[in-house]
Formats: sequence, C-alpha cells, structure tokens
Amino acid sequence: MVYIDPHIHMVSRTTDDYQRMAQAGCVAITEPAFWAGFDRSSAQGFYDYFRQLTDTEPKRAQQYGINHHCWLCINPKEAEDVGFAREVISIIPEFLKCENVLGIGEIGLNKNSKNELLILEEQLSLAEKTNQLVLVHTPHLEDKLKGTKLIMDAIDNTSLDPNRVLIDHVEEHTVRAVLDRGFWAGMTLYPDSKCTPQRAADIIEMHGTDRLWINSAGDWGPSDPLAVPKCQLELASRGHSQSLINTISYQNPQTFLSQSGKFSAV
Ligand SMILES: [Zn+2]
Repeated sequence: MVYIDPHIHMVSRTTDDYQRMAQAGCVAITEPAFWAGFDRSSAQGFYDYFRQLTDTEPKRAQQYGINHHCWLCINPKEAEDVGFAREVISIIPEFLKCENVLGIGEIGLNKNSKNELLILEEQLSLAEKTNQLVLVHTPHLEDKLKGTKLIMDAIDNTSLDPNRVLIDHVEEHTVRAVLDRGFWAGMTLYPDSKCTPQRAADIIEMHGTDRLWINSAGDWGPSDPLAVPKCQLELASRGHSQSLINTISYQNPQTFLSQSGKFSAV
C-alpha cells in the first residue's frame, strides 16, 4: 500500500533504506532540518547542509522513485547561541526558492529556554513574512506538554494560520490540545520512545484521523525507516479499513503538504 513518510532524516540513512522504503510502498518523503548529532562549528556548516537537503538528497531519493522534499531552519538544540542562530536564519531565504522546500522546520523547543523561545519567534516571523508552512518539533519526556503549550502560544501571537502548522511528536497527553487549537498533529513512531505503532493505533482509535499523520522520524539514532508501513499493518490487523489506513498514511500528509504549492506525491 502506498504511503508518504512526512518526517524522516535521510541524510543519516543508507541507500538500502531507500530501497526497502520504496519496496514497502513509499512514494514521497519530507525531511526537516535537524540536529545532526553534533553541533556545527559555523553557519557555513548549515549552508552545506541546506545544499545537501535541496540538491543531493532529492537526486538520491529519485533513484528509488521517491519524491524528496525538505524544510529549513536552525533546530532548537543549536539555537541557544542567539548570534549564531541569527547568522543561520539569514541564509535560509535564498534556499526557500528551491523547488523541494516546503517551509520552515523542524523549529520548536528543546529545553524550553528563553533563547530557544526567542529564536523560535524569529523563525515564525520569517515563515509569516515569506508565507511558508511550518513543521514544529516538540520537546521530549516530562517537558513535552509545557513546551507544546509554549510553542502554540508563540504561534498564536503571529498571523500564521494553525491549519498551515503541524505540531510533531505528539503523544497521548498532548494530541488533544494540539488538535483542539486547530493545528495539525504528527505522531512519531519510534521503537522504544515517542509513539510505537501500537500506541499510535490506540491514539487513532481514541481521536480519529482528522488533521493527524504518522511518521518514522528515522535518523542517526535508534529509529525505524519502515515504521509507517508497520503502523499500516498494525491498523489492518485490528480490522481497520483500507480507507482509514490510506487517510492517515497518505491522504492527510498529501492534504497538509499540498498547501505549500510545491509538494508532489507522484
Ligand atoms: Zn526530526
């Protein structure tokens, strides 16, 4: 069954992963800019990373028939140094013109610090000025609910339409608040944290499929690039219809991402 993985960090994955994803039905992916497991030593490091996301990675994906798109930003983990973060933000606009760039992301909070919040606000304002979609990372573990609320408040202080913002890595205790405020919500399927395929299936059964999607967030750490098709199987084994599975793993990403005017699943 075809699917879109709307959040995966392919710069950290092998060509074998691309092949297995294509075999499992993946037709398109979107790759947010993120923390690479180490702090870059200069803004030039981000310039090269953005070149990789807008030029190299789409060509690699295309060899397996997968359409590659991306999001650009400075991630919250590297946003503590405000001067450095602003230098990175200043190079984003020239890349926004690239044909596979869908918006600003994954921005958000990591430790919910003051500086992170300031840089989040500045990137929201860039999205506002340049009319971009926004993909939001929410912090992990015990600070998730607090961080999610802080982020939603920051977005509410802008003119951004919540229907053009996706709040990612939601869990049982944050999904309702995100959907109730008009945002889209993403569930990340990790083998042992965030949502497993089973927990995601439970959440779908509790909250329905409206404005909700699933993704693998596969990266350089413990993660599974085939998590989306595994969740499709989990839903099928519980007796859910092909139409529900298609909505959560293909139609919803397609609907949200198409608002960029640049997304193509085929
Ligand atoms: Zn990510």
